[in-house]
Amino acid sequence: MNYSIPLPEPSCLGISGSSELFPVNRIFCVGRNYADHAREMGHDPNREPPFFFTKFADAVFTGDNYPYPVATSDVHPECEMIVALSSGGTNISGNQALNCVFGYGVGFDVTRRDMQQEAKDLARPWALSKGPDYAAPCSILHPVSEVGHIEKGKLQFTVNGEIRQEGDIDQMIWSTPEMISFLSTMITLKPGDLIMTGTPAGVSAVVKGDHLVGHVDGLSDLQLTIT
Ligand code: MN
Repeated sequence: MNYSIPLPEPSCLGISGSSELFPVNRIFCVGRNYADHAREMGHDPNREPPFFFTKFADAVFTGDNYPYPVATSDVHPECEMIVALSSGGTNISGNQALNCVFGYGVGFDVTRRDMQQEAKDLARPWALSKGPDYAAPCSILHPVSEVGHIEKGKLQFTVNGEIRQEGDIDQMIWSTPEMISFLSTMITLKPGDLIMTGTPAGVSAVVKGDHLVGHVDGLSDLQLTIT
């Protein structure tokens, strides 16, 4: 096959204990999946159906020096556990959902909060407020064969050593299998899809020079410096 322009390079994540790379297909992000964060954003954390937004696959960022996004002065990196899928499908039952999981990692759902607030006020989409270049810094993935399924454990986000966010994976309103099952009723899930599973309270702005560490028990930390 000849292509009219060069094929884009796939976005890939490293894998613990392997020289292989995990190619990222799409990125789905759940909103308000921790009650304390829903409250801090002015919402009632009742168990309503989850809602999702998306980021482009090329938003994946794996470097050490993170360029401060353009067109904003209020960048909030939401610390979240990432679920990486090795298979997909439609109408996946809750019982079968975890069979689709390749592994887990730590990510930042980078948000231009000022732009998002404007979008909320004007009832406009979140695509660009949630989708600057490099909107999804990610750690390496840990396969299920290494760490099992991450259903509980501390999630912590520090900036320059100071704790900004702290929660536990078991506080997610919608569990990993529930999110996979729900999403698969809305769209056909595919190998390579990532799910960013939501963030606890404490979201806040970062500035150039800040050193960020995202942690989930059992996984590799995600570390970067804002430049
Ligand atoms: Mn988020």
